[in-house]
Parts: sequence; structure tokens; C-alpha cells
Amino acid sequence: MATLAAAYQAGRMPHGLLIHEAPGSGGDWLAQWTARLVLCQSATGAPCGACPSCHRVLNAQHPDLLVLQPIEDSKQIRIEQVRELSQELSLTAHQGAYKVAIITPADTLNRFAANALLKTLEEPPPRTLLMLVVTQPSRLPATILSRCQRVRLKAPGRKEAISWLEGTRGAGDWNAVLDTLGDAPMLAADVDPKAVVQVGQEVRRALEEATTGAGDPVATAERWSRADFPLRLRCIENWLTERIRAQSGSEGFLTKVGAAPYPGGRVAVLNMGDLFELVDGVRELKSSLDSPINRGLALEAILRRFGPGQRTRLRT
Ligand SMILES: [Zn+2]
Repeated sequence: MATLAAAYQAGRMPHGLLIHEAPGSGGDWLAQWTARLVLCQSATGAPCGACPSCHRVLNAQHPDLLVLQPIEDSKQIRIEQVRELSQELSLTAHQGAYKVAIITPADTLNRFAANALLKTLEEPPPRTLLMLVVTQPSRLPATILSRCQRVRLKAPGRKEAISWLEGTRGAGDWNAVLDTLGDAPMLAADVDPKAVVQVGQEVRRALEEATTGAGDPVATAERWSRADFPLRLRCIENWLTERIRAQSGSEGFLTKVGAAPYPGGRVAVLNMGDLFELVDGVRELKSSLDSPINRGLALEAILRRFGPGQRTRLRT
């Protein structure tokens, strides 16, 4: 907020702003705040939150703020949407100030849509602000990235996140929720904490079991693909990244108390190569959630790779 406010006050607001957020760290919120910053009618140099403009932005009713996101069933932002946006941006602002567009999540722009957006980014009308909110900028074309200034939004520390969640949602075992979801407070704010922790524990148990060759991958995959599938994939991903961190020694994970109760002796069972391959597999499945693949089969293949007999052939 401070960086953006300073840029705005100095007249250095870029036309293209890439908000690179850690998952669940409030990228959309920051984009909306920035929209208020440039559209606010008060002369304070910060969004007042009280003027008609600020109110309209907060109620998603400001005529000079356009939000582009995938339309309902579609998981992509399509070229027609971008064309409409560009046309709207070329008109004079209703309130004579900025015209603002928020594109979120920007990595849902399909190839054609991204190309169409490029034209607007290359020659933006004056007093235009295009904000792209994204967790993985590498999924955007380099041509788009090179035309945006980047703001990095890191996940807050655990303590900070918990105190924010307690203030926003009230008491709860937020530490366990963040263990399950990763340090993504804005994501955690939208869930039922008890249900999430329960799913997290179940996934953790099943994965521990799978590494010893116990458990039934077919039945587990079938059951998980029918309920809370995206959440379970996230849990698997977190379980794997925890182990990658532990093995790379970057976070002192092994001495962490309270989280991840599993016997230390098993940590090294999956080596670094295995872990990275598995993370890739899970991420691939996450990004293809909407394509007509057989979720159960795809997950089963991943779960099998946790088992002791399956891994040697994967090592290269
Ligand atoms: Zn205002």
C-alpha cells in the first residue's frame, strides 16, 4: 500500500501493474484498494473510504472500474472479454479521472486473450491502470510481464496471520488451518476451520501410510475424488513441500513443535527427486481440474508413487 501510494502521489503510477501474490495473501484486496487510491475523490492521497467513489468501488459499482475474471462455468478469460475491456478503456472516464481494470486471476487469460490484452498494454490510453493479479507469473507470456511493473505480495508470518484471522473470524484453531492450507490467511478466512483441519489430518495420515506401502490407493483416490478434491490436492502439495523444506534444511522444519506429527525416521524415505516429481504431478492435476480427465485415476497414479516399491524407477 505504501509503495503504491508513494508512486501515485509522485505521478509515477504505471499503466500496467502486476500484483504477484503468494496464494491467499490478498492480491485481489490490494488491487481493489489501489482502484480506490486512484479513483478516490478526496484530496488526501489515500483512499478515504467515505466518498461516493470509494463506496462505489467497494460495492463493485464504479463505472470506471472494470473487473475481468473467468465467467461462471468457464475457467478462462476469453478474447471477447478482453476486446470489450479494451473498447471500454478507450472511452473517456465517466468521472474524468482514471479508468481502472482488474484482471484476476490473470493466469486464466487464454492465449488469444493474452495477445489481445498485449495491444492495450502496449498503447494504453492516458490515465489507465491495468492490474493483473497472479500467483504464478511464469504462467503469463513474457511479453505481458515485460510491460507491467511488479508488486510482490508475500505471505505474512504465521503469528501475524493468526492474529488477523482471530480478529476477522473469531477464535479457532487457525494454526492447524494454516498448517493444512499453507500460509494463506485470506483463503483460510473463507473456510470452515474444523472441516479443513479434519480433511488435512485425514490426508496426512493416508500419505504417511502410503509411504510405508500400507493403505489402498484405489479406494482412497476414489473417495477423495468425490469430496473436497481441490482441498485434498492442496493438502498433498503442502505435505510434499514441507518435506522438501525439511530436506533442504531451509526452515528448520524438523525442530518445529506441534505441526506434522510423524515419525522423524520416515522423513528421508522420499528423496528430493521423488518429492519434486510428486509436487509436479499434484500441480499438474490441480491445473487440469476442469478438463474431462478421470480425477480418481489421476490421483491413484500419484498415490501409488508414494509407496516404497514404486519410487526407484522414478529416480534418474
Ligand atoms: Zn474516497
